[in-house]
Amino acid sequence: MQIKCSFCGEQMDNPDFAKNYPNIVCRECESSAVNSNGEIPQFDSMGDFGDNPVYIDGAKCWRRYKFGGFITMRDDFNYDNLDEFYDRSGFMKRYMQDVPNPIDVSQINYLLSQLNNEQMDAKDSEARQREEDRSRLLNEYFEKGVTASHNGKFEDSAMIFIKALEYIKNSQHFEKAQILFNIVTAYCKAGNFPTATEYLSELDSLSARYPDNIVINEEKAKGLGNIVKAAYYVSGDIHRAVSYLSDLNFLTTRYPKNIEINLAMANGVVTIIEAYGRNSDFSKTNSYLSDLTSIASRFPHNIEINLAMVNGLFNIFISHINVGNFPEASIHLKSLKQLAGTFSDNTYIQNLWAEAFEYYQQKKDSRNT
Ligand SMILES: [Zn+2]
Repeated sequence: MQIKCSFCGEQMDNPDFAKNYPNIVCRECESSAVNSNGEIPQFDSMGDFGDNPVYIDGAKCWRRYKFGGFITMRDDFNYDNLDEFYDRSGFMKRYMQDVPNPIDVSQINYLLSQLNNEQMDAKDSEARQREEDRSRLLNEYFEKGVTASHNGKFEDSAMIFIKALEYIKNSQHFEKAQILFNIVTAYCKAGNFPTATEYLSELDSLSARYPDNIVINEEKAKGLGNIVKAAYYVSGDIHRAVSYLSDLNFLTTRYPKNIEINLAMANGVVTIIEAYGRNSDFSKTNSYLSDLTSIASRFPHNIEINLAMVNGLFNIFISHINVGNFPEASIHLKSLKQLAGTFSDNTYIQNLWAEAFEYYQQKKDSRNT
């Protein structure tokens, strides 16, 4: 199959990925895009929302922002907004949505404060002073790194965490793991997949050295989770995403009760379900859904893991609708309804269920008329 850029007509590198986007524009052509003020288009810190529409040589285009990356699509019919463009081209807004995975600074601060308390017992006040200075400086690095990431300066964020890494060189290995996770995340968001995997391998070797350290393995799991996302959303490489997910799966078998590790796995599985759903590979989506179900069954009350479950179900539901498979879609719609009943006070789940129900009716009606 060949998919061509809707501007220059060059063949797209990854047709399996490109075929999912109507009137896709190649990387070269989209590099000259500007926003409505003629400036370089901007996007938010998670990279999930940004300037729309954008213009290439004066032609209107819409962008789908996700996780620091974006896809540009040419609009031949001058639609008024992104929703309309998605609707008319059979692409649904919510389809690509999942639970954001922000950098967790609170956990780091907590661990640093623990470290401080332990040091309070030290008799040597000079050593204590040094420890306090050290904590303060490390905290500063974290704050600067996280702020840079929130402002969309992902490469800067990575550099700040790399400096922090140099600073603590010979100290606590769990701190090192936390910094490495932040570097991996920043490079994932910057769309720099090769460098992200380099730092991931440092996390790997830390975890090999301290196989029973929970903090290190949690950081590794979260890093792997972001790598899975980046492999698919940034590089469009399903097979790579799947291979990183299997590393993550190994951690969940070692730590079946650990929430962070299982949450990273659940969100990784949702990414893979979305990928196979878009290729209508339903034997794969069903097998990954059963993985997701078994994770959710271990954490029946954890809202984030159940949100992943809901997102996974919704993705499969939409994939069935898109190929006109209404009986299968209705099975997943029923599962969604059940979860909406269980989590009746969660607005996200209620909205998603309502949206799915409405979409199902709409598509079924339009098929019957
Ligand atoms: Zn092009």
